[in-house]
Amino acid sequence: MKRYVLLDRDGTLIRDAGHPHRLADYELLEGVAPALKRLADAGYRLAIVTNQSGIGRGYFGYAEFQRFHAHLLADLSAAGVAIDATFLCPHMPDDQCECRKPAPGLLWRARDELGADLAASWLIGDSERDIEAAWRAGCRGAVRVGVAAPRASADPLTLEARDLAEAAERILGYGAP
Ligand SMILES: [Mg+2]
Ligand SMILES: [Zn+2]
Repeated sequence: MKRYVLLDRDGTLIRDAGHPHRLADYELLEGVAPALKRLADAGYRLAIVTNQSGIGRGYFGYAEFQRFHAHLLADLSAAGVAIDATFLCPHMPDDQCECRKPAPGLLWRARDELGADLAASWLIGDSERDIEAAWRAGCRGAVRVGVAAPRASADPLTLEARDLAEAAERILGYGAP
């Protein structure tokens, strides 16, 4: 059984100033690398699931995405954090694709291509779209980060946290299924 924590990227791992794709705009959020390391040390594998409609909108291309994204992966790798795969949706909201969150397509790719056991896996994201994708894909739970005053909740599908460190804390609080 492969337990994953599936990670939104923009606004969750890095600062989201709106379709970040230039290296000048790259900023890893504080505490992200140690939080991911804690999850990995607890037996969770890690993958990224990211909406990149900037590609569909023509703001940047795949090559620019890859260069920017490689920067993030190198940063995490240097901190001892391995990301198994990145699944991205390049489409626009009107495209009606099956992968743009809140659709569950990217999470299903993690299940099909990585063998992620979604019922034992979590998603962390900063948008309601992320949380809804987790519900629809059948994840064990989801944590919304970037919440200034997180509410305590016993429902693993609706957890809230200020940042990734707190999100990791909450996930680890549930232990293995
Ligand atoms: Mg986001
Ligand atoms: Zn898509």
